Amino acid sequence: MSALRSLILAAADSPRLQRLVQRYGFRLGAARFVAGESLDAAVPVLRRLNGQGLLTNTTLLGEGVRDEAASRMVVAAYREVLDRIDAESLRTNVALKLTHLGLSLDEELAQRNVTELVEHAASVGNFVRIDMEESRHVDATLRIYRSLRESGHENLGAALQSYLFRTETDLAELLPLAPNLRLVKGAYLEPPEIAYPRKRDVDAAYARLLEASLAGSGFTAVATHDEVLIEQAISFARDHGIPKERLQFQMLYGVRSRLQLDLVRRGFDVLVATPYGPEWYRYLMRRLAERPANVLFLLRNLVRG
Ligand SMILES: Cc1cc2nc3c(=O)[nH]c(=O)nc-3n(C[C@H](O)[C@H](O)[C@H](O)COP(=O)(O)OP(=O)(O)OC[C@H]3O[C@@H](n4cnc5c(N)ncnc54)[C@H](O)[C@@H]3O)c2cc1C
Repeated sequence: MSALRSLILAAADSPRLQRLVQRYGFRLGAARFVAGESLDAAVPVLRRLNGQGLLTNTTLLGEGVRDEAASRMVVAAYREVLDRIDAESLRTNVALKLTHLGLSLDEELAQRNVTELVEHAASVGNFVRIDMEESRHVDATLRIYRSLRESGHENLGAALQSYLFRTETDLAELLPLAPNLRLVKGAYLEPPEIAYPRKRDVDAAYARLLEASLAGSGFTAVATHDEVLIEQAISFARDHGIPKERLQFQMLYGVRSRLQLDLVRRGFDVLVATPYGPEWYRYLMRRLAERPANVLFLLRNLVRG
């Protein structure tokens, strides 16, 4: 892992830097990756992306809550998001973090909260994706996903990270559920005891997960901007007769927009993850860590300021 990536990810936990960046960051460049600070600001962005033939998801940014009451406010906000998507007829679903729903306080609280949202999403014909966060949350996240699926909920999916050694086993254990899985490389700072430190190993693991997931009977969301892996998914699906309905590409708002549209033109489903909300600091830092050249983009805006 590059030293710069580690440095930026470590800075994601700095309250001082957070105060500084939050003060100036949205104007300076956070708007490249975040649809707005409110749902009202995000809706026109979602509508524009849908108009270009792109599917979208949205997320109220934030992770970790202090108490149960705060987690209930997040649930209320997501109920409003789901109702608004319905009212505006957007082709948008929801992706959320279980720590935002209280996972670090109490697993049962997070499970109750996400169950309520999955049920509300079902009532308006929508879908909920559970993001994957730091490695300490993986067991609980997969337990909650499995428990909801086993109790008959179909309108939810999970995410798996190829940088973790454990993920190939996790995938094999989930496949009998015909899961809806988003495959990602992984965006957090993880120690070499549990995660591949070298990018080429992360990429090779992703390729193995991709093929194993596509060969199963579930739905695979290929969430990467890596063109080699995207082409590999396309060839594998073609060679194994996997219908397009079982495969979707997913990318981030503000990243490789031309590639997103090229895939739409080639007839594939592409979903753009389009978050919003005032708590965008940690999200922005992860986007900077993925491509440290993005720091230059931010600094250029500062100079132009
Ligand atoms: C839809 C979606 C959902 C995600 N959900 C999760 C999740 O639940 N948990 C999790 O840990 N991670 C998640 N991630 C982040 C993911 O783990 C990676 O950190 C991120 O996607 C960058 O890796 P990559 O696969 O694009 O490949 P890379 O090899 O890192 O990048 C490939 C190319 O894409 C471009 N690129 C990649 N990132 C950026 C960027 N930030 N800015 C500009 N260009 C860039 C560059 O041209 C780069 O060369 C998600 C990513 C996506 C797309």
